[in-house]
Amino acid sequence: TQNIKLSVHLHAYGEGHQMLLSRDITAVALADAMRRDFVANVSHEIRTPLTVLSGFVETLQSIPLDEEERQSYLHLMSVQAERMQSLVADLLTLSQLEGSLPPGKHERTPLPELMAQVLSDARSLSSVLSGQGGDERGPVHELVFESSPPWVLLGVRSELLSAISNLVSNAVRYTPAGGRIQTKWSTSTDCVTFSVTDTGPGIAPEHLPRLSERFYRVDRSRSRETGGTGLGLAIAKHVVQRHGGELRIESQVGVGSTFMLVFPASRLETLSDQTH
Ligand code: ADP
Repeated sequence: TQNIKLSVHLHAYGEGHQMLLSRDITAVALADAMRRDFVANVSHEIRTPLTVLSGFVETLQSIPLDEEERQSYLHLMSVQAERMQSLVADLLTLSQLEGSLPPGKHERTPLPELMAQVLSDARSLSSVLSGQGGDERGPVHELVFESSPPWVLLGVRSELLSAISNLVSNAVRYTPAGGRIQTKWSTSTDCVTFSVTDTGPGIAPEHLPRLSERFYRVDRSRSRETGGTGLGLAIAKHVVQRHGGELRIESQVGVGSTFMLVFPASRLETLSDQTH
């Protein structure tokens, strides 16, 4: 099909349009390479937990284990199964996010309610990551969530929640215990911005342009350890772009990072507007 497409283009453009043609070939080849990369990445991401899982099944079948050992293998197996479930869920989310937002999909999403959910998830994640899942000592990070202004965002609630949650959970996952994570909403004449700032490891400038690509990771092992699928930032970027905005990242190694979702001001209403 690629050859046929190219010859059709050649015919259509004729001579004197060499530049257009070569740009077209590059675009087709690039899209093709990206698709191949994507499939290779997905296969790799799925193969790793599957290999671990089948290794454990074999051990359970062939070696006599006491109850405690058996339980610990079963626990490790369920962690791998959950990892595949998150990956498949993120892949589905991403494929649904392609394209622009259809008209009519503009729910009124009150920020205070949205942020209450994000904060509660961040607290749980922070305590789970301390290795004390569900313990009453609470989060191991200082979570500073400025009280959300009485604003309503026009957009798809579930998508906005997933973009914001991905940024906040990354801040929790990459910031060592004792670190600080701060969220903020602000406005200017043109935009409304959500930002999350952490005191994590920071990201070197050479990684920044590629960070929101699917499966691009600076530190593969940290991402795995904390349950990352490698798709969180790709999802956040797609969501904000579908809402007419953009993802911005500022970071300094050894100091921390700020991730921002910048929406056009037209997406904003104040809660009191509702009553008029
Ligand atoms: P992952 O599941 O690997 O976290 P993401 O798409 O959410 O996937 O993030 C891509 C990569 O960006 C991560 O693997 C990590 O290297 C880097 N990253 C994301 N957020 C942060 C952060 N707050 N601090 C440092 N590095 C981060």
